[in-house]
This record gives sequence, C-alpha cells and structure tokens, in this order.
Amino acid sequence: MTPAERMEKESLKYQRLREEMVRQQIEARGVSDAAVLAAMRRVPRHMFVGEALRDQAYGDFPLPIGEQQTISQPYIVAEMTQALALTPEDRVLEVGTGSGYQAAVLAQLAYRVFTIERIRPLYLQARRLFDELRLFNIVTRYGDGSNGWEEESPFDAIILTAGAPRVPEVLLNQLAVGGRLVAPVGNSHSQELLVFVKERDGVREINLGGCRFVKLIGEHGWKD
Ligand code: SAM
Repeated sequence: MTPAERMEKESLKYQRLREEMVRQQIEARGVSDAAVLAAMRRVPRHMFVGEALRDQAYGDFPLPIGEQQTISQPYIVAEMTQALALTPEDRVLEVGTGSGYQAAVLAQLAYRVFTIERIRPLYLQARRLFDELRLFNIVTRYGDGSNGWEEESPFDAIILTAGAPRVPEVLLNQLAVGGRLVAPVGNSHSQELLVFVKERDGVREINLGGCRFVKLIGEHGWKD
C-alpha cells in the first residue's frame, strides 16, 4: 500500500468511527441540533489525542491528554455545545482549551472562538493543531481564564470546560445581554452542568444534570 493509500484508508476508518459516535452516543441520548451533529461529524477527534490513543478517540469516555488533564467525553462536548445555542455571528469564549477539541467544534458553529489555557504545553500543542487544521477563527491565549478576556468582551456565549466552585461573577459580566454561559459547577469531585442565560433584568439558570470535570484553577476558581 502506498503512503497515500494508507492515509485514505485511515481517514475512512475514522470517518466511520465518527459516524457511529454521533449516532450511538450523541443522537441516541437526545442531542438533536442538526448543526451541532454536523460539527461533531466534521471534526477529526483522533487528531486531538496522542498517537497511542487515536483508536480510542471515538469511544464513549474522556481520555488523558497529558499534564493530568482530559479531553471530555464526546456526548458532553455535544451537550454543552447545544446548550450554547450558537449562531454563525456569535463570538464565544472558552475557558480551558485542553486538547483544543471543544474549541474546534465551536469554531464550526460560531464566528470567532477565543480560548484560554493555563498549562503552557497544552496551549502550544492546541495552537499548532488549529494551524494544521486551518481553524483560523480560533484565537488562543495562555493564562488564567477564570478572569475571562475583558478586552474582547462582551461574548455571545461562554463555556467553562473545567469545574468551578461557583460561576465567576467576572465571567457573567463579560456576557452580552441574551448571551448563554455553560459551566460545570460544584465541588472538586462532582458538579452540575449549569446554563445561565443573561436577560435584561437578571440571569436565568437551567440545570442539565450531574457531570465530572477536572478543576478550574485560578483567581476565580480553585486555588490548586
Ligand atoms: N475543552 C477541552 C478539550 O476539548 O480538550 C477539555 C479541557 S480539560 C477537561 C480542562 C482544561 O481546563 C485543562 O486543560 C486545564 O488546564 C484547563 N484549565 C483549568 N483551569 C483553567 C483556568 N483558570 N484558565 C484556563 N484554563 C484552565
């Protein structure tokens, strides 16, 4: 087999695994937004994990990405993305770039994605991957995302992909009126997935149920 033929075969294999992931894990559990499902079908999740884990990338579980961090379970990525109710004009902030997978999914649905990561090797690796995949509508930053990204605010949507003891007020302040914020909130072992919708006269809260994320560490998160 020539290298080109091998690549073609590989890509067909991952395409098939991706289709199964969408049908069996995501649609079957009730995610129905057609644009979200299309984005999950498009993004090559196996590129966001190390070589040794590529064949497991479409499994129904989170995977390690180094630095004691994880890429979230596909279903959770889809559910959180659907909760953001994105339109193609939206500007989105993600706190916790990690592997970059969630940002790549958001980038299929929004105008621009701003994503912040506090662990430098993960930040650098995700940046390289965004370039390689030509995801030019993702803007990256290295630092503590619990403070948000004041200069680029207000955002139409904000997503925290690490668990916080409470939603930082500073992030709610960076949300536009009509904006949606989704975050895992709770203690360091288990959280509830909460959606906050900012309205003219206050903030409405919706609980999507239990979840388990690594900790949001920073000024407005856990201390370590
Ligand atoms: N969205 C990621 C993905 O698609 O792979 C999943 C990320 S992982 C569950 C959570 C990430 O949040 C980790 O990479 C962690 O280093 C990062 N993190 C935790 N606290 C942070 C903070 N204050 N600012 C930015 N990133 C943070």
